[in-house]
Amino acid sequence: FLPHKLHLRCISLLYLLIQGEPVSKVTVAKFGGTSVADAEAMRRCAAIVTQTANTRVVVLSASSGVTNLLVDLARGTLSAAEQEIHLKKLKSIQDNILNELGTPAPLRQTIDGILKEIADMARQATQNSDAALEDRLVAQGELMSTRLFTEMMNHLGYKAVWFDVRKVMRTDSRFGRATPAIEAIHNLAQQEMAGLLKDHIVITQGFIGANADGQTTTLGRGGSDFSAALLAEALGVDELEIWTDVPGIYTTDPRLVKEAHPIPEISFSEAAEMATFGAKVLHPATLQPAVRKGIPVFVGSSKEPAAGGTWVRETTESNPLFRAVALRRNQILLTLHSPNMLHACGFLAQVFSILAKHGISVDLITTSEVSVAITLDQTGSSSTGRSVLNDGVLDELNAFCKVKVETDLALVALIGNRMSEVNGVGTQVFDAVSEHNVRMICYGASTHNLCFLVPESDASLVVQKLHQRLLGK
Ligand code: ASP
Ligand code: MG
Repeated sequence: FLPHKLHLRCISLLYLLIQGEPVSKVTVAKFGGTSVADAEAMRRCAAIVTQTANTRVVVLSASSGVTNLLVDLARGTLSAAEQEIHLKKLKSIQDNILNELGTPAPLRQTIDGILKEIADMARQATQNSDAALEDRLVAQGELMSTRLFTEMMNHLGYKAVWFDVRKVMRTDSRFGRATPAIEAIHNLAQQEMAGLLKDHIVITQGFIGANADGQTTTLGRGGSDFSAALLAEALGVDELEIWTDVPGIYTTDPRLVKEAHPIPEISFSEAAEMATFGAKVLHPATLQPAVRKGIPVFVGSSKEPAAGGTWVRETTESNPLFRAVALRRNQILLTLHSPNMLHACGFLAQVFSILAKHGISVDLITTSEVSVAITLDQTGSSSTGRSVLNDGVLDELNAFCKVKVETDLALVALIGNRMSEVNGVGTQVFDAVSEHNVRMICYGASTHNLCFLVPESDASLVVQKLHQRLLGK
């Protein structure tokens, strides 16, 4: 049977080639908030999408600023006057784009309907807000930007369809930072979405999803990249493009170091470390779905698509010792001290089970004989910015060990290759920062990074020094 099948495949491939039809690839393209900030920005996205026939799925963020306004409204603490101002700002962002599109009546109606819903939910939030309502409210930004972009694409003569991602982006019910259900998403995407790609460009939302009961959830702030990667995985596409406002991944934040430069290619492992350790271009979890499927990811600027960008691939041609420096501010250092830990087993297990129960993810960890130090990331803890360390966790930890919480710390991470296998890495790094107090060091768990905590106030200088010594051109 097999040779016969193979034979048939060859013939059909030959047939395709003779016909001149490309053996088509499929690309998912994601555009961030600044890329869809207004009509002009959206037109640039449309040009990028239509430049190749491969782009069949477009995932959008909310227009720049919209999610922040919605989050404020969702908190339910604004006065009636402040609410009014927020609602006006939201309306004006949408109206500017609508006007440019000639204000088609059906779309006007749709957007007005959403704006009214937002106003209603915002009022409700001031009475008694709950996490489910918050998510329903903050999800509206993506629902609007995708409506507007679909209209633009249709207006330009392309067969674009608006697609409610909640039909496929199945998550659990942890509102504000829901966890995707990979298998369900795969099945739903195949059922509901895959068929549309053949002759449509599907326009859909990042950031949002729904639980099994159909309630709207969100993946956490900045979650659109993750959405795009999840859809790329579920649909089994060939490439994922992440379009943002910078032409790729930089050696470090160019606002901190003016010599910072874009990296042409970087491996999945390095990029994952970078994202985890604070590089802003990619959401920390973004790469996981792409890594699982080996889908190459391109990161570029929708403002200057011709400037190129960074390819993130499974393996790269270059593998330098130092590739980049990442910085993550707003770290909490939790030191847990217990004399009982001496020669005992199970202490760490107990600590981690408490943290896990409260959904707190641990970043770095070092231990001594009787204490353990753990860093927690305070930024972007949930879509609406609740603190990660609540009283409940602290009470539980306090019950069996001494707890010390330090804040105003920043995490500096050096990213590269074979770092734990090459002699002299530590000397090079710590020579560069010899004038600064290094609070904690993690080295050796991965060959791709070396990271340490410094006081928040030293962070910029430390990054500048490291870049100059190790990555300066
Ligand atoms: N609009 C959401 C946010 O601002 C998601 C995203 O843009 O990735 O966080
Ligand atoms: Mg394209």
